[in-house]
Amino acid sequence: PVVVELRSVSKAYEVAGHRTPVIVDADLTIRRGEIVGVVGPSGSGKSTLLRLLSGQERPDSGDVLAEGEPLCRSGLPRPGWIMPVFQDPVTSLDPRWPLWRTITEPLVLRGERLSRGQRRQRARAALDGVGLAHLDILRRPGSLSVGECQRVAIVRAVIAGPGVIVADEPTASLDAESAATIAALLRRLADEGAAVLVVSHDERRLRSYADRVLRMHQGQATP
Ligand code: ADP
Ligand code: ADP
Repeated sequence: PVVVELRSVSKAYEVAGHRTPVIVDADLTIRRGEIVGVVGPSGSGKSTLLRLLSGQERPDSGDVLAEGEPLCRSGLPRPGWIMPVFQDPVTSLDPRWPLWRTITEPLVLRGERLSRGQRRQRARAALDGVGLAHLDILRRPGSLSVGECQRVAIVRAVIAGPGVIVADEPTASLDAESAATIAALLRRLADEGAAVLVVSHDERRLRSYADRVLRMHQGQATP
């Protein structure tokens, strides 16, 4: 089944008084169980595509659909629906928050009423499930390795249901071993039913774990 979809989406930015098209009439479909990679040179619109799919950015025209419904309602993405994973964990994770609070935030955003104890339990179970049993849920991102932070961001992305992961260069700041761990985790979550989009300039690594790799060309992501 289709989970997230761009239909005839266009997006232009105003650069020095000049309207510059970045995404042009683009179509993209991500299904459950698949990892779609997007590659392309710097400035080709990869991050813009990701921000459109996560609802951080609105298209000028066209539709962004999540499970067949518009991703955004009243201009805002459905709360807690997609929590992006960025290259820099400092951008993904709030440094002030202990892990249990960060990880369970989407559940709260989506309207679950949970006590602090329940949130801690859910966070504990989620971390245990991705090989992070050694992490204390009271820790904050600053005391974690970058690779651990990425796994926490991925845990948060899938804790609240539909299991959509949109990741911008999730392995770029990592050594080879941590990058392989992240790739394996994304692969496993996709095999368990998540829909995954990964934007990266590391095409070789991406091809080692993605189901298909698309290339940004003239504002579109094409095979
Ligand atoms: P990539 O991720 O492939 O490097 P981006 O999506 O970041 O590409 O950027 C595509 C183009 O859009 C670039 O020319 C960039 O300068 C421009 N751009 C991106 N975001 C903005 C913005 N918020 N305002 C103006 N221009 C932007
Ligand atoms: P990995 O081994 O997963 O690649 P790094 O080598 O990037 O992780 O991180 C090594 C150390 O750098 C961590 O153990 C931590 O002490 C510190 N560190 C990593 N990320 C952060 C962060 N976001 N804030 C503060 N310190 C960090």
